[in-house]
Formats: sequence, structure tokens, C-alpha cells
Amino acid sequence: MLGLYLHVPFCIRKCDYCDFNSKPAGPEEVERYLAALLQELGDLAAVHGRAADTLYLGGGTPTVLSGDQFERLFGALENFGLWTRGIETTVEANPGTLDRPKAELLAALGVNRISLGVQALQDRLLRRLGRIHTGGAALDTFGILRTVGFENIGIDLIYGLPEQRVQDWQADLKQILELGPEHLSLYGLTIEAGTPFARSRAEGMLSLPSEEEEITMVRAAWEMTLAAGYGHYEISNYARSGFACRHNLGYWMVEEYIGAGAGAHSFVQSDGPTRSHNVASVATYIERLRSGRSPLLRAENLSPHTLASEALMLGLRLREGVLLNEFRERYGIDPFDVYASCLQRGLEKGWLEMEAGRLRFTERGMLLSNELFIDLF
Ligand code: SF4
Repeated sequence: MLGLYLHVPFCIRKCDYCDFNSKPAGPEEVERYLAALLQELGDLAAVHGRAADTLYLGGGTPTVLSGDQFERLFGALENFGLWTRGIETTVEANPGTLDRPKAELLAALGVNRISLGVQALQDRLLRRLGRIHTGGAALDTFGILRTVGFENIGIDLIYGLPEQRVQDWQADLKQILELGPEHLSLYGLTIEAGTPFARSRAEGMLSLPSEEEEITMVRAAWEMTLAAGYGHYEISNYARSGFACRHNLGYWMVEEYIGAGAGAHSFVQSDGPTRSHNVASVATYIERLRSGRSPLLRAENLSPHTLASEALMLGLRLREGVLLNEFRERYGIDPFDVYASCLQRGLEKGWLEMEAGRLRFTERGMLLSNELFIDLF
């Protein structure tokens, strides 16, 4: 499996909670960025020389690209031999940036999966997040996507928002489930340093749900998605049968991926397992490619121990956990030899369980997973 990720670091406006590598930009900057991205893709194709099994355009908001820019991008991907029509091809989209003609064009170009950043449906919550769209616009965009023929749509929602009550969360999720998307990503809000939310919290101006309320929201999500026929396949991800995101599964299963664009990460194994990432600054990224230099900022060869420990943490994110026999065969390391005391403690406390040779989080462990990763490893 080889995944190809393209980063589009532009948004119409920066949301108040966001620390992703994204910013507003004018049309000229977007155009210069696209030229640099195509240059990097050409260079990557020459080095790797193989087509990807999945393609994911993320951001930022990839749907800020114009129809003409999407056409040039997909034309180049095909010409470089990096992409073929028919593979899982996802574009992240935000309501308010995708009208019917653009949705039709994406479908015609071969995009077969849309990940729609809805986040909430209630307008007061969306305003508090600094989102550019209303709940009504999100529902309209979903309707457009279905009408033009998208049969694989994922929706992202966030719980634990300022001023969000448990009933708000349940009402939003109920409405989303009634739409019947194929995939759901349900994330807990994290307050990232340097964001307006972090400043508001420091000033005591952010009224967040209590820990108990947040746990109730997660449990409600489990129950409601299960009742609606979704499988819970990763800590934050739910899908109808056959619609788990293959591209993201590649990350959790430590498959190879190549990232292109500002700040994009890659993991390849041809010369030993190597992780690398590009410069995050859009200006530096464009400048480097314009002057014929590589946008790579850092590459690191992973020792067998580092690779195995990353694989364990990523594998535990999956509901099915880690099959220990397979793990030992692939990485030459038994997790219980390296993390004996941590894993033993996780088992004793009921955060982890062993079943048919698999190590995985229990439901209680999943609830606390973020803290547990820090605590266990
Ligand atoms: S749309 Fe997404 S990437 Fe852009 S600012 Fe908002 S949260 Fe960040």
C-alpha cells in the first residue's frame, strides 16, 4: 500500500481552535503554491516511480482551489503516473466552499470520496468556533454531494465545544445520522497552544463542558452510531461496512505514504524505514521549489525499536488492536518485552485487554486513550 497525501494550506478564514498548517491567502499566492506543488509532484514521481493506492487532499481547505486548478492538479497527477482513476480519492471540503458545479467537476475528475468538515450543526456553536458556514449550509452541501452522485461521504463533528450541552451534541449527531453518511469522524476538542481558544481559556473566557459531560457525549456517540449500523473502527472513526477510510488505515497500519505540499509528512521503507517532512512555511515552500531546491526539512531513519513503538501506538488506535504474532513477525520485537510494565499496568487497570492473541483498548481505555498513550508509553 502506498498513500499519497497533498496538503492545501489555505482557508477562507482561520477557525478559533485551529493549529493546522493553514491560512487565508489571495488568488496569486494559491496559484504560486499550486505551481510549486506540481513541481514537487514531478520530482516525487521521478524518485518513487509508482502509482499510489490511495490519494487524499487535505488541508486547510482543498476546496478553495478553483475548478481550473483542480483540473490541472489531477491532469498532472495522472501524467506523472502517481494517480489512476478508480483508487480511493478523497478531498476534504468545507461547507461554504463547494457549490454544485465544483462538486460535479470533482466527481467528473475521479474524486470518489468527500470528507466534509461540518463540526457542528447549531449556528451558535459554529459562530463560537469561528467557522465560515451555518448548519443549514452544511446540510445543503451534503445534499449537493449526494445529488451529483457521491456515494462515499464522511462527516467530521467535534464534541466538547464551548457552551455545548450533552443535548446539543445528541441533537446534532441524530440529525447527521439521519443524513446517512458512509463515514463519521467524531473528535473531542483539544485546546492547542497559540490559538484564540487557548488565549480565551487563559483569560477564563472559555466555558467548556465538564469531563463527565464529555464522557457522556462519547458514550452517546458509541450508542447512537452502533444503533445506526456504523462500525467503530478507530478511536475517533466510525463507518458503514466497507467504508472505512483506506488512506487513513494506511497510517495506522504503518503502510508507506508520500506527502507533498507545505509541512507534508512522508514514510517510506525503500532505504530502511524513514520519516520525513517538508518545510511548513508556504512562502519558503514556494521559494525552495521555484529555485529548484527540495522542500524537505528533515528526514529521520527509524531504528527497529522506534518503528515498533510507533507501530504499537498506532495499532492500538484501531478497535481491533494489535495481533501480537503478526507484530512480532513484522517488527522482530515483542511489545511485552519492551513495554512489559506499562502494558501489564494497562491490563491490570482494565484499560487494555487480550483477546485471541490481540492486544487492544477496552471501552474504558478508549475513553481515556489520549491520556493513556502519555501514561503508558
Ligand atoms: S477550516 Fe479546518 S483547517 Fe481551516 S482554519 Fe478551520 S479548522 Fe483549520
